[in-house]
Amino acid sequence: MMLQSPGHQNSSLDAALLEARERYTAKRPKSAALHRAAVEVLPGGNTRTVLAYAPFPTAMARGEGCRLRDVDDNIYLDLCGEYTAGLFGHSDSRIRAALHGALARGLSLAAVGEAEQRFARILCSRFPSIDMIRFTNSGTEANLIALSVAQVVTGRSRIIAFRGGYHGSLLYYPATGFNPINATFPVTLCNYNDIDGTVGAIRSAAGELAAVIVEPMLGSGGCIAADPFFLAAIAEAARGVGAILIFDEVMTSRMSAGGLQQRLGILPDMTTLGKYIGGGMSFGAFGGRHDIMDIFVSSVPHAGTFNNNVMSMAAGIAAMEEVFTATAAAELFALGEGLREQLNAMSDRAGVPLQFSGLGSLATVHFRRNKIDRPYAITSKEEALKELFFFDMLDSGVYIARRGMMALSLPTTEQDLAQFTTAVGDFLDARAPLLR
Ligand code: PLP
Repeated sequence: MMLQSPGHQNSSLDAALLEARERYTAKRPKSAALHRAAVEVLPGGNTRTVLAYAPFPTAMARGEGCRLRDVDDNIYLDLCGEYTAGLFGHSDSRIRAALHGALARGLSLAAVGEAEQRFARILCSRFPSIDMIRFTNSGTEANLIALSVAQVVTGRSRIIAFRGGYHGSLLYYPATGFNPINATFPVTLCNYNDIDGTVGAIRSAAGELAAVIVEPMLGSGGCIAADPFFLAAIAEAARGVGAILIFDEVMTSRMSAGGLQQRLGILPDMTTLGKYIGGGMSFGAFGGRHDIMDIFVSSVPHAGTFNNNVMSMAAGIAAMEEVFTATAAAELFALGEGLREQLNAMSDRAGVPLQFSGLGSLATVHFRRNKIDRPYAITSKEEALKELFFFDMLDSGVYIARRGMMALSLPTTEQDLAQFTTAVGDFLDARAPLLR
């Protein structure tokens, strides 16, 4: 076999990507037309940056179970799972019934009702760190308020967050660069899974530190799990200086009936939730110990027109009571673990730098071999391979997030996943020379 020079390999990768983009475009004339029209009124053609990618995003028309149909009639196994909010798939009958019931009783009642306390009780009983809870409309809002609560309770202002952490559109700390529209909290950034560095930062900020906010597994930062010793160490250090530890479980709460905190046995002072918990309706929540949440009893206001909207409350109750039971959570976790094991064994056998990181039902593809314990600066080759992987999966009828993330939904079976493992096998066969 003739060895290829690295330069030749790069030009082959560019050529493969060009060809994949052309194939993508040819199969999606209606998505392309929608994009051309959208850019006239939506900056960048969308209202959600995560859905924007070149040459234009695939527009979906319908969903059923774990399948999607795009506007050009291409059909996909949905492994994007609405970036974890689509846990129930697209048509769960119990959630639909709850929504129809709420619709029949009327919208916008401008009053308290039975539903929000029932929903609150379910969540307080499931998440070990949540004695009391309040609802918001998004995970972003939940985190903004949780951080502000920590400031009020401690009388301090500084926040410690982690490079690669994502806590919402106004609380985004990329591994490289910065987000110009972040909320203006005074933030100290630490490296994920760096015990000594983080404990040191907590101790040196002691007198001014209000909160440490952390995802127990970095979600959009690459599905990178925290070392439990790291979480335990920052919990102890934060308590030692009287700061509030916030677990952002907006993504990771699916890891067991009581979230990743329950699985790990490590409890924060406050927890934020979002995504799937509203049964697919817009949702966010923050909760924690009585003594913290008590600030809302009298002294601190917290309003929000849609905080107890009847659709999110009804869908959330059905979702958490009837659908995402403790058994369902355990089975989904195991399904995801099995999938990742299989995928990683396939790439090991192929001897290529490709791995699937994550925990339970969440995974992200990375084009490097070494163990990944924190976010890294992605090389241009890795970025090109990620794009190629995305187009190849779409071409095989598997819809994943453009950034290479996958989130399983409850209707997905092992048979469904065989389509994905076959697609990854084909990718390994066809693209191995470009990967090496
Ligand atoms: N926190 C985490 C860990 C998230 O992954 C996200 C969204 O992806 C958020 C917060 C923000 O939630 P939302 O998009 O509902 O504002």
